[in-house]
Amino acid sequence: SRSAGIVGLPNVGKSTLFNALTGAGAEAANYPFCTIEPNVGIAAVPDPRLDALAALFRPEKTTPAVFRFVDIAGLVEGASRGEGLGNQFLHHIREVDAILHVVRAFDDPNVTHVFGSVDPVRDIDVIETELILADLETVGRRLERTARQAKSGDEAAKKALEGLERLKAHLDAGRPARTFPAGEEEQALLRELFLLSQKPVLYIANVDEASYLDGTPTSHVRAIEARAEAEGAEVIVLSAALEAELRALPPEERSAYLAAYGLEETALDRVIRSAYRLLGWRTFFTAGEKEVRAWTIPAGARAPEAGGVIHSDFERGFIRAEVVAYDDLLRAGSLARARELGLVRLEGKDYVVQDGDVITFRFNV
Ligand code: GDP
Repeated sequence: SRSAGIVGLPNVGKSTLFNALTGAGAEAANYPFCTIEPNVGIAAVPDPRLDALAALFRPEKTTPAVFRFVDIAGLVEGASRGEGLGNQFLHHIREVDAILHVVRAFDDPNVTHVFGSVDPVRDIDVIETELILADLETVGRRLERTARQAKSGDEAAKKALEGLERLKAHLDAGRPARTFPAGEEEQALLRELFLLSQKPVLYIANVDEASYLDGTPTSHVRAIEARAEAEGAEVIVLSAALEAELRALPPEERSAYLAAYGLEETALDRVIRSAYRLLGWRTFFTAGEKEVRAWTIPAGARAPEAGGVIHSDFERGFIRAEVVAYDDLLRAGSLARARELGLVRLEGKDYVVQDGDVITFRFNV
């Protein structure tokens, strides 16, 4: 399933956010594909369309798409050299699709800061430097190997060498791999290297409750936004402590609280929505009397690939897909009526699945 790793310095609010995001989330036991460790939690992806489909089909079961969050603690200065939880930490990052970089933007004398003062941009640089240093090791090893191959006359290696050297220079200058201007060949290289600083990042500015509810960006928030903007990244402002409190409320009280402050959604909703946008993910649905369910696919996925997310047979034995757009189905009021109105299309293996498609797969076993 899709995943994001929560990183940041100690005491910035990572665990608080992790608990708020996953605390009242989906029952882990229902998702056997998720290995559950103490630092791994899952959250149901909120999607009002799923609720509307459930109201239409009245299925025995409604299953949201899920998102995995990994609380990656233990990053301190020196992690790339193996200090703190060092390597274990880096291993966890390699496995996630995206990084939520939590930055402390709350002043609270009762919560110690590892560097004794609140300075979000310095903090971001410390974390980023560790990731870049780890990547430099990876690139350095590859560079040595490629140089040897080039020396013994390997033409492909000679070509790759130049790109590797440019990449190394980029990292040496303290810049993350995700801002490396890669040509086609270098992109292939990057795909093989699995660099940590290449993962897409969402910055999370963790502010105190009062400034969150007030809504005016503090100087800390503005500093984080400027830093993020320089690399075209997004910032989500939230208060982890407040989110944790909201999580603990029954749903009606939570809605009432949000409404009282003019807020439309919890931070969980915003985090997941931003992650979907950042990573270019799309949602499609399957719907019947037994189950109504949401599934996640990458943008541009064709019908057989979408089927494969459900079961490998759907992809291998794909014949065709019966597709109706969510809006059309809702307007028609039922699948049968949508068929009568000619809103249900038969699509073949080249069909690019659209966000919100409701699909029935036809396949051979
Ligand atoms: P981690 O080490 O990054 O996982 O940080 P924790 O989530 O354990 O939080 C460290 C401390 O900061 C705890 O005492 C939290 O209660 C506190 N904390 C977390 N978020 C907030 C916040 O939004 N406001 C305030 N005032 N304290 C917070």
